[in-house]
Amino acid sequence: MGETQGGHTETARGVTGRRALLIGGAAAAVGTAALARDELARLWWRLPGVEKPRVAGAVDFRGAQWVSASSANYRRADRPDDYGIDMVVIHVTQGSFPSAVKVFQDPAHGAAAHYIVRKDGHITQMIRELDVAFHAGNREYNERSVGIEHEGFVEEASSFTDAMYAASARLTAGICRRYGIPVDRKHVIGHVEVPGTDHTDPGRYWDWDRYMALVRRAHRTGV
Ligand SMILES: [Zn+2]
Repeated sequence: MGETQGGHTETARGVTGRRALLIGGAAAAVGTAALARDELARLWWRLPGVEKPRVAGAVDFRGAQWVSASSANYRRADRPDDYGIDMVVIHVTQGSFPSAVKVFQDPAHGAAAHYIVRKDGHITQMIRELDVAFHAGNREYNERSVGIEHEGFVEEASSFTDAMYAASARLTAGICRRYGIPVDRKHVIGHVEVPGTDHTDPGRYWDWDRYMALVRRAHRTGV
């Protein structure tokens, strides 16, 4: 900032050494302030009570409908600044879409995913991607992933419709784009693949080859 140096120039005539010293001092002070500001910008999310501005009802995926989960089923965070996001976890609800929405709104449930995809391809978002949803049953995986539920049952092949695959693939492609996540089976995984889980979803009827091809296509074309 120029204001500090401007104050020195008129009083420093003929006192070159002192002037140089003053300007040097001012420059050093500005340098320190700039450094402190930079440090603050990088660490601001660590400060208590400081977080990104949020808009009520905002969604992270265009076209998703916002229905808030109970705050007992997730932890407020500021991802990807406090925790990096490098995974998408695929789930199956083992129940109807309305029943999944209902349990995620129930504070006693203790779990919820960011999104639920309905059989007809409708997408509801219940937790912001900023926040850590309790969906994987593994703290580290919760912190680094976005969880997507799919309406249906792992034992029912008919649960997984064309509309569901297409909508979910666009959603996952968008998440991968937003956070620079590679579109592969190391980074797009099933709940069953989370270490320590006793869950089997999405199960043997979930067509991974088909799904990943759709995700790759949506990722490539941006659709
Ligand atoms: Zn699951």
